[in-house]
Amino acid sequence: MILVTNNEGTVGAPTTAHMLAEGAQALDAIEAGIRLIEADPSVRTVGRGGWPNLLGEMELDASVMDGTTLRTGAIGALQGFLHPVSVARAIMQHLPHEFLVGEGAARFAREIGAETADNLTEDSCRVWRKWFDTEVPAEVKRAWPDTPLAALCRHAIDPEVGRDTTVFLAQDAAGDVCTGTSTSGWGWKYPGRLGDSPIIGAGSYADTRYGAAACTGAGEMTIRCGTARCVVLYMKQGASVGDAVHEAVNDMRALKGGLISRVTIHAIDTSGNHKVIAVNGAGDNKYWLWEGKGEPRLMPAEPVVISSVETRATPAARYASR
Ligand code: ASP
Repeated sequence: MILVTNNEGTVGAPTTAHMLAEGAQALDAIEAGIRLIEADPSVRTVGRGGWPNLLGEMELDASVMDGTTLRTGAIGALQGFLHPVSVARAIMQHLPHEFLVGEGAARFAREIGAETADNLTEDSCRVWRKWFDTEVPAEVKRAWPDTPLAALCRHAIDPEVGRDTTVFLAQDAAGDVCTGTSTSGWGWKYPGRLGDSPIIGAGSYADTRYGAAACTGAGEMTIRCGTARCVVLYMKQGASVGDAVHEAVNDMRALKGGLISRVTIHAIDTSGNHKVIAVNGAGDNKYWLWEGKGEPRLMPAEPVVISSVETRATPAARYASR
């Protein structure tokens, strides 16, 4: 048994680990852990309390994958529900589809009686409002929200802007390997923007025969590389989990243009091994590891630089402190 989750998984990791220890199926344990994070407004990048898009709306993304059946469930740009991960899982359980977005996702969430929530907390709203008041030009404000937003996207791609995802990768006592992700995506993102978290193959992938991978950071990069699927494929082809992740990092070196920023790749194999690499990340990038006994331990990710990432003050960082 093994569990890997990132720093955002802190409030859920003990629950998932305890459930796995008691014999729970990996997806049940992952969903239970992620639900705690989604409901916790102190986690600023997942669920309630996350950062809104450019219009000040909360659009949440989540996914699950069962590596034994290779069934997946994913939702994107979901508004108004507390537990995107459970809506994603319900897609897997109740529909012949794998992925719903926007209005259709919300409609399905209502249909299954998912818990509704106003995910924009007072503090996130205050920070967004300060950004709006200070950064949006007067003529754009006058036409708001029927105004071109593309130029304002520069606030979303700032490397210090509030963003992250929680990713969970686990192998249970029966050997099943599963993944789960949940995020509010990038703060100040263009409305409707999906990152990699709900895109199976980019932000996560699980196959009980080989292992699993899940990513955080610039989803634009892992979408272009199909990162999570590639890591598992490289393991299928015989690479160790460490070599598979390094090969996926090498794939990223071929990216030309577009957004190049930070990505953290988390991976496990089926023999209890794991690897976490922070691409363009700092040495303080941490993750939780549980290896079948005791409590989860906080571990440092291995930093790897593929290109320099500019850092400067950001909407969230700049206004959160005031
Ligand atoms: N990967 C997520 C996305 O692209 C955000 C993150 O983990 O920082 O939406």
